[in-house]
This record gives sequence, C-alpha cells and structure tokens, in this order.
Amino acid sequence: MKAIIHRLTLLITSVLLSFPSMAELVILQYHHVATNTPAVSSISPQGFAEHMDLLEKENMVVVDLYEAMQALDRGETLPDRAVAITFDDAYLSVYENALPILAKRKWPFTMFVNTAAVDGNHNVAMSWDQLRDMQRQGGVLANHSVNHPYLIERPETLSIEQWLDQEIGHAQRRLEKELGISIRMHAYPYGEFNQDIIDWMASNGYLAFGQQSGAVSRHSHRQALPRYPASGIYANPKTLVTKLHSLAFPIKADQLIEPILHDNPPTLSFAFSSDDIRPHQIQCFAGGQGAISTKATRQDGVITVEAKADNPITAGRPRYNCTAPSIQQPSRYYWYSQFWTNTDIPNR
Ligand SMILES: [Zn+2]
Repeated sequence: MKAIIHRLTLLITSVLLSFPSMAELVILQYHHVATNTPAVSSISPQGFAEHMDLLEKENMVVVDLYEAMQALDRGETLPDRAVAITFDDAYLSVYENALPILAKRKWPFTMFVNTAAVDGNHNVAMSWDQLRDMQRQGGVLANHSVNHPYLIERPETLSIEQWLDQEIGHAQRRLEKELGISIRMHAYPYGEFNQDIIDWMASNGYLAFGQQSGAVSRHSHRQALPRYPASGIYANPKTLVTKLHSLAFPIKADQLIEPILHDNPPTLSFAFSSDDIRPHQIQCFAGGQGAISTKATRQDGVITVEAKADNPITAGRPRYNCTAPSIQQPSRYYWYSQFWTNTDIPNR
C-alpha cells in the first residue's frame, strides 16, 4: 500500500511538474522617454509607442505591478504573458511623452520616484502636481530613495538603520504626505544592493526591484526582483520580444547570491527542479564575453548549474544571463540573471 501511495505521489508530482510554471511576470524598466536625453537611458517617444503596440500585438496582458505581486503572494496564477511597465527617476519626459500613450490605453504602470529631485524642482523631474495628475491617470508611484545614491556605500557615521531610514524611509514619508501612498515598493538606484539592504527591505515590508533581467515567478526573492531594461541598446523590438515571452527559472529565493563582486571572474551557482528544461540546453553568458563555461547536471530531479566566465570582468555592474528553451513551448526561453556590483570601480 505504501509503495502504491509512493508511486501515486510520484505520478502526481511529475504531472504537476510537466506543466511549465504559469505564474510568470515580465517587468519592463524605462527611464527617459525623449530624444534629447542620454541615449543609454532613453527611448524615443516613437520607440515607446512602438513598444506599446508590440505588447498588444504579442497578446501581452499589462498588469498592475503591486497587484500582480500580491496575487503571486496569495498563490494565484497570473494571466499568461503578464507584463508590468515601470519607470525610474520621475523624469518629466515620461509625463509628457509616455503618460498620454498609457492613459489612452488605460494601462497601469509604476513610476519609482527619487524624492529630492521633485522636492528640489530639478529641471528634468516632474513636480508633485504632475505626479498627482499621473496618479489620477492610472500611475502608481513608488520609492526610488531620496537622493539616488549608491545605497551600498553607507556613510561611516551612519548605522544601516539610520542610512536607510534617511534614504528610503524619508522618501516613503514624502510619497505618503504628497501622494497618499501606503504601499511599499522600492527600486534600487542603479540596481545596486547587498544583504544588509535586502534584510532591511524585508523587515520593513518593501518589495524591492533591481535592474538585472529575467522573468519573475512566485519563487522569486521579493527583495531582489528582476526587471528587463528596455531603453538604450535594450529598446530593440526584436530582442524585446524574446524577453516578453520569457519564463522564470523556478529558482527559490534562498538561492539568491549577494550581488557584490568578490572573486573576479565570479562563479554563479544555483539549483532548481523542472521537467521543462534540459540541463545541457542551459547556457550562461557574460557581458562582453558571450557564452561562458556552464555546467548543468540533473540528480534526483534537481538541476544544478555552475557558470563562470573565462576572464575577469571589467564592468562596474556586470551580469551573467542564463537561458534555456522550454521543452513544451520551444519558442519560449527561461531566463535568469545574476548581477554584481564591482565596488573597485568608484564611478560606476
Ligand atoms: Zn534611478
């Protein structure tokens, strides 16, 4: 009898595992929507309109970021091809050039606000009145710190509590006072964070988003959520389509590696269970080095991956991106990105 139950359990488990994880969310990250701003962090208004057309053409379901994350937390399944649109830095060009396009489609989006730029009436930043108008037209405003610092570079005179209250807590209080914001979502400036910051975010109830690419699953670490940059060289619609349809490797939150570069080149290792991925089809890539040494093996249903670049990495914020095709949906790719900050480079 025990053996039958065991076999039955195995059968049920394998049936469940044979379906690709459905709770996937792709998050897009933009900065400026303009032609007269730095190319690396900009998309033209026309380019942005084309991206929105692409979302429609590819049958993407544009969802509210916070509600989608809440749904994942409740164990609910998101619509297939769910996508959330985000902007960082409260740039005026988003208000002028992206908001009309989004409002016309009645699509939700999130704007991460660095509050000192707004409080200081910075000439490329939105005003509180414009942010309120954005809110009325379907935008959700969230936390991007006060001064947009390298958060990992804490002033020696401050404790981690003092530092993050000064940069994150204060920004949240400004958002609350000016806009009535009560939800807690933060986008790390420059996508940089360390374990202390993760811990503070978690204990203060923030969802936190980086700038490493990849899809979100219900397993994703809630204080290290990936987003696909979609500006500059990443604005190309052809490469964006692959990302829109990407799937999340079912990597549990406890597999997260602190994104600070210690050994160079760094080693990335992670493990997960999936029947929809063939280990030998997993390949990791490093910026500037293309495909890198990737070893993936399956044992007792667990796939273990280890990847390492051949050469040291010179970038300030290097990433390894790992992909693998889905067996059941061969046109879709699993995508996971590990990010590191190279603290040897002062002006990253
Ligand atoms: Zn920013």
